[in-house]
Amino acid sequence: MPSPTALNPRLIRRARADQIATLFTQWGRTTSSMALGGLILCAVMWNVAPHDELALWLAAILINQGWRYELARRYRAAAPGLTERESWGRAWAIGSTIAGALWGAAGVLWFAHGDIGHQALLIVCLFGVVMGGINLTSVYKPTLYGFVLPTLAPLIVRVALDGDQLHAFIATVLLVVLAFILRFGHNLNNLMTQSLAIRYENIDLIGELQAQTAAADRARGMAEAANRGKTQFLAAASHDLRQPLHAMGLFAAALSARVHDAGVRNLVNSINVSVEALERLFSALMDVSKLDAGAVAPKRTAFPLTPLFERVENEFGPLAAAKNLRLAFVPTRTWIDSDPVLFERILANFVSNAVRYTASGGVVVGARRRGRSAVIEVWDSGVGIPAAEREHIFEEFYQVDNSLSHTSKGMGLGLAIVRRLAMLLDHPVRIDTQPGRGSRFSIEVPRVAATVPQVAAPAEPSRRGTTLAGARIAVIDDEAIVVEGMRALFAAWESAVVGASSGEAMLTALGESGQYPDLVIADYRLADDELGTDVVVRLRHELGWAVPALLISGDSSTPTLDVLRASGLEFLLKPVLPEELRAVASRLVAAGRDDGVARQHRQALAAARI
Ligand code: ADP
Repeated sequence: MPSPTALNPRLIRRARADQIATLFTQWGRTTSSMALGGLILCAVMWNVAPHDELALWLAAILINQGWRYELARRYRAAAPGLTERESWGRAWAIGSTIAGALWGAAGVLWFAHGDIGHQALLIVCLFGVVMGGINLTSVYKPTLYGFVLPTLAPLIVRVALDGDQLHAFIATVLLVVLAFILRFGHNLNNLMTQSLAIRYENIDLIGELQAQTAAADRARGMAEAANRGKTQFLAAASHDLRQPLHAMGLFAAALSARVHDAGVRNLVNSINVSVEALERLFSALMDVSKLDAGAVAPKRTAFPLTPLFERVENEFGPLAAAKNLRLAFVPTRTWIDSDPVLFERILANFVSNAVRYTASGGVVVGARRRGRSAVIEVWDSGVGIPAAEREHIFEEFYQVDNSLSHTSKGMGLGLAIVRRLAMLLDHPVRIDTQPGRGSRFSIEVPRVAATVPQVAAPAEPSRRGTTLAGARIAVIDDEAIVVEGMRALFAAWESAVVGASSGEAMLTALGESGQYPDLVIADYRLADDELGTDVVVRLRHELGWAVPALLISGDSSTPTLDVLRASGLEFLLKPVLPEELRAVASRLVAAGRDDGVARQHRQALAAARI
C-alpha cells in the first residue's frame, strides 16, 4: 500500500486532524458496543465469576464511557482547529487505553474460574470486542494500540502461563491473530488518511479550477465589456461626429454655389476642400477603428475579377488620364474567393497609391495563377519605396518623405486599412519596389472555378444633371442645423426645401404649404425612436403616391445597413458629399417626374385627405 506520506504533508496533517474529529462523533457507537460486549461477558461469566466483581467491572466500563462523554461534549464546545486536535486525540486515546485495560483485566481475572469452555468464550468475547470496534479504533493509531494491546496482551500472557501444551498452542495462535489485527488496523488507518488526503487534494484542485474558471470568466467579461465599450464609442462617435461634418459639408457647398466674388469663392473652395479632406479622414479613421474593434465581418463568396477590375478602372481612369498616365487592366477570367466589397477596397487602395505616386509612365493591374491561388498585382512606374521604409508604410499615418507636394499625398491610412483587411481576409500581401523605378503591390487570394457564365453587368445609366431646378424637397431631420444646411444647399441648386423634424410635423408642413414634394429626404434615425423608413411609408400612404425617397443614415453598422438595403429605398451615409447628394437627388426627382401622369391622378385623390 502506498504510504500516505507520499502525499502533500499539509494534506496529511489535515486528514489526520479530521480523523481525530471523527473519534468524538463515535461516542454513541463505542459506548453501545462496550455496553453490549460487557453484558455478554457478564452473562457468560455469571456462573463462574463473583457477581460483585462482574458488577464493579461493568460499572467501571460505563464510568470510563461517562467521562469520555464529557470529553466529547467539551470537544464540540471548543471546536478545536487542525493543530489543536492532536492533544484532544491523545486524551481520547487515554479513554481507549483505560477501556482496553478493563477488558484486559477481565481476561486475566476470570480466566482461571471456568473450564476450557468458559475460557474459549472469554477469548471469543475479548477478540470479538476488539474486532467489532476495529474500524472505529483504527481511525487514530494511539486509540488502536491503546485499546487493542491492553485488551488482548494480558489475556494471551495469561493463556500462555497456564503451562500445558494446549494453552501454549492457543497463546501462539492468539499472538498471531493479534499481530494480524494490529497490522490490519495500522493499514486501515493509513488507508483512511490517504483517501481523505486525496479527497482534500481533489477539493483543492476543484477549488483552484473554479477560481481559474472564475478568473477566466472575469477576464472574458472585461474583454467583452471593453469591446462593447469600444463598439459603443464607435457608434456614438460615428453618429455625433458625422452629424456636424454632414451639416458643415452642406453649408460649405451651399456657400460655394452662392458666392460670385472670385476672392471669396477661392476661400470658400478651400473650405470645401478641407471639409472633404476631413470627411475622408474621418471615414478612414472610422474604418481603422471598426476593423480594430472586430466590427467588420467578412462575407466571403466566389466572384469574377473582371467586373471588379472594371469598377476600379472607372474610378481611377479619369485621375490617371488627368496625370497623363496609362492605366491598364489585363483581361482575366479568374474567379476568386473573398469578400467582394473588402477586396475591392484593397485593390482600389493599391491602384490609388500607384496613380498617386507615379509621375510618368503608367499603372498595370493583372492577375496571375499560382497553384490554387491567384495573385493580383498592381505595377507602377512611380517613385518606388526605399528599403528602410518598406516595413513602415503599413503603419497608421506613416508617409514616406518622397518630395511629393503636400496636397497630392494621402492621409497615411490607406495601407493601414489594407493591412487590417488583408489580415481579416487572410490574404498575404507583398511589395517589390525599386526607388526611382516603380513598385509592385500584390495580394494572394484563393482561386475558385467559375460557377456561372460571366455576363457583363448592365451599365448604370448616368443621370447626372441639373434636373433639380424648381423641385420641392421634403427634408425630415431632427437636427435643425441639418435641415437648414439642406435648405441652403438645395436653394443653391434652385430647389425649395420644406423642413420638419418628424413624420407628423412633415405632414402638417405639407398640408400648410398645400404643395406636394418631388422628393422626400429623411434621416434614418429620428427623435423618439422614429425611423426614416417608417416616415417614408407613412408619407407615401398619406400622399397616395410612391414619392421618390432618399434616406440618410449616420449609422453605418451592419444591422442598420441590412435594414436599409431591405427597405429597397435609396440611401446615403453621412457625411454626404454634396455632389453625390445632387446626383442622387436629381436622378430621383427626374424619375418621379417621369411618373407624373400617375402622380397627378393620385394627387387629385389624395388632395381630399390632407
Ligand atoms: P497615403 O494615404 O499617404 O498614400 P498609405 O498608407 O496608402 O498612405 O501609404 C503609405 C505610404 O507608402 C505613402 O505615403 C507612400 O509614401 C508609400 N506608398 C504607398 N504606395 C506607394 C507606391 N505605389 N509607390 C510609392 N510609394 C508608395
